[in-house]
Amino acid sequence: MFQELRYRLLATGYRLLATKMMPNLPFARNGFRYNQYKYYLEDKFGVRVQRISVETGFTCPNRDGKKGTGGCIYCNNQSFMPPYAVSGTLQSQIESGKIYLKERFGAEKFIVYFQSYTNTYGRLSVLEKKIQSVLKDPDVVGISVSTRPDCLDTDVLNLLWDVSNHTYLNLEIGVESVYEKTLHWMNRCHTVKDTEKALETLAGYPFDITAHIILGSPTETLKETMGMSQVLNSWNIRFLKLHHLQVIRGSELAKIFKENSFHLFTYKEYLDFITEFITQIKPEIIFQRVFSESPGSHLIAPVWGKRTTEIVMDIQKQMKLKNLWQGTQIQ
Ligand code: SF4
Repeated sequence: MFQELRYRLLATGYRLLATKMMPNLPFARNGFRYNQYKYYLEDKFGVRVQRISVETGFTCPNRDGKKGTGGCIYCNNQSFMPPYAVSGTLQSQIESGKIYLKERFGAEKFIVYFQSYTNTYGRLSVLEKKIQSVLKDPDVVGISVSTRPDCLDTDVLNLLWDVSNHTYLNLEIGVESVYEKTLHWMNRCHTVKDTEKALETLAGYPFDITAHIILGSPTETLKETMGMSQVLNSWNIRFLKLHHLQVIRGSELAKIFKENSFHLFTYKEYLDFITEFITQIKPEIIFQRVFSESPGSHLIAPVWGKRTTEIVMDIQKQMKLKNLWQGTQIQ
């Protein structure tokens, strides 16, 4: 409907109005008022594509002493594990993911997602072998590699470039915040400057870049968190993966929170926040996610008690009710 109206305005000569007031959102469909990654993938591959998260066996420089030893305060990699996770070879993890995602979402093709820890930290030959082994599967149409901004040296980037010549490649960077004070509080052991430097270098590479961001740290005012949109709009990224700060069992943050609790987004606050935040993000960006709910067994706070589908519907409803669209309130 929205796109139709935009096209009608364009066709009838109201080009300025159409482009100024109604951004082109090619992947906003079926009630979504923001670009959705699943529609981007559907258009790209012509079938339903789902990501299979796998455990690759890498570690991270914020745990083994190269950058730090305690890890990021919110981190407990167990909480990232999907319901189909099995321990074993990459192939067995992929098979398990395929069965689950075919049944649950009708997926026909898959992107293997090297999610946990820092997947470009380790021997290059090991990463190369792992990538090659998963690409042998005819159902696998691409790779997604998650890493930190300070673990992208030239050899890694050249390997990924080579991979991207043969398959779809998405590089996900744990940016987490655009504020140094927040990165320091999170014990990320990298800086915003590291992120900016990595993005500058990546501008010369043909990758689709995702920035992973955590919203609602107690180091930031709500205005500052909202203000991240301006920085994100100015960066060389195509995808955004957002979620609110969660306190996970077994993390350093769980101890901090127990000793000195602080405010976390309530469900209503997050709905208000994220729907407005989306309006401030430029229309070229595609959202890979706009929230996440860690499994109840891992989550200490905030406990919303909502199912994923319910949260998606509530975001859609709120955006419709307030007539909000991605990219209509860029600051
Ligand atoms: S979030 Fe990533 S970088 Fe931080 S400790 Fe966990 S695995 Fe390491």
